[in-house]
Amino acid sequence: MTQKKLTIRDIQNWQGKRALVREDFNVPLDAQLNITDDTRIREALPTLRYLSEQGAKVIIMSHLGRPKGKPSPEFSLAPVAQRLQELLPAIKVHFEAASLSENTQAKIAQMGTGEILLLENIRFEPGEEKNDPELSRRLAALGDVYVNDAFGTAHRAHASTEGVAHYLQPKVAGLLMAREIEALSTVLNSPQPLTAIIGGSKISTKITVLENLLDKVRHLVIGGGMLFTFLKAQGKAVGNSLVEDDFVDTARQLLGKGAGKIVLATDVVIADAFKADATSKTVAVDAIPDGWMGLDIGPESVAKLQSILQQSPLVLWNGPLGVFEFPAFANGTRQIAETLAQLTEQGLSRTVLGGGDTVAAIEQFGIDPKRYSHVSTGGGASLEFLEGKVLPGIAALDDASVPVA
Ligand code: ADP
Ligand code: MG
Repeated sequence: MTQKKLTIRDIQNWQGKRALVREDFNVPLDAQLNITDDTRIREALPTLRYLSEQGAKVIIMSHLGRPKGKPSPEFSLAPVAQRLQELLPAIKVHFEAASLSENTQAKIAQMGTGEILLLENIRFEPGEEKNDPELSRRLAALGDVYVNDAFGTAHRAHASTEGVAHYLQPKVAGLLMAREIEALSTVLNSPQPLTAIIGGSKISTKITVLENLLDKVRHLVIGGGMLFTFLKAQGKAVGNSLVEDDFVDTARQLLGKGAGKIVLATDVVIADAFKADATSKTVAVDAIPDGWMGLDIGPESVAKLQSILQQSPLVLWNGPLGVFEFPAFANGTRQIAETLAQLTEQGLSRTVLGGGDTVAAIEQFGIDPKRYSHVSTGGGASLEFLEGKVLPGIAALDDASVPVA
């Protein structure tokens, strides 16, 4: 299965063309509507700069939050327009205070080439999340080429992420989208042996990922809360650790199918309560006392995992290995994060990270995400990609085999 898509670099002549670009500018805002993290805006800059330099008129659609199909000031993209202008001082950034109005066409006609117009929050339109064909058609009329750069919403079939592509030709990936597709496809399709580290809280949210990866991996390392459902499946006592009883059978089946591939921790850091200042100690996985819960993998397990990683040319990591939010239980996640960064820098491993909390952990540790080969910007989208699903926002784009008009 190939997901190779045409990108903005495949369009020969952008001069004067209207690029209708979907970005993911769903940034966090504080109570005063200040942007508290502009990573998503920065990630979009390469695509926007490229289009501007090539002489396109750049019209951007994005959502922010969940305004439920009607305008509401707290979800306005106005602060994003302002930040975008600060980040791109050499390019004129206009803001259209409506997602779509009678005047939008005229405004675009008056724009200079190389300029940017950010439309107001597309989820102010009731048709957006319904993937309404009428809205898709009206949006398509704003552009000559559709560009989807919003990997983080590619798992949603909405008017601006999927519907619009049915009414506009050509339709291509932005540079961020192309990078995401390339990195995650490599994980799933590379002939190199893959080591996958899957952690996080629950097995139920990642069961399809585990099943899809099992065929493709050399090693599948299980950490985080879901570890304890696997340990229970092996007949071990796990005390008060997080366990999903409905998935113990599933875990047992996976252990059978994945014999020789699945790697479980051999020691864990346990706590007498789920809190930052709980009493903690390290025990073997078959010695968890009643009343205690496992909140991190232990040092022996970290060392074992590090020796596996030293021989892993390709590594996927999704999901923290412990409750990293509490410093006493962050060690496993921190050590593996650091090891993966070093292996990447030494050119020994290609490392692909995904998952909202995994990225939050890296940030909390102060590790520069550039030290990894790729850190995915899409939590839910990357998970669905790794499940083997074809994301609607990607499926809607032209395949790389399609001749460019
Ligand atoms: P991601 O967003 O990276 O995919 P998840 O959402 O699946 O990750 O899980 C992240 C959460 O898992 C974190 O909040 C972390 O505290 C929790 N977690 C990790 N290990 C454990 C554990 N042993 N017990 C309970 N929760 C855990
Ligand atoms: Mg999460």
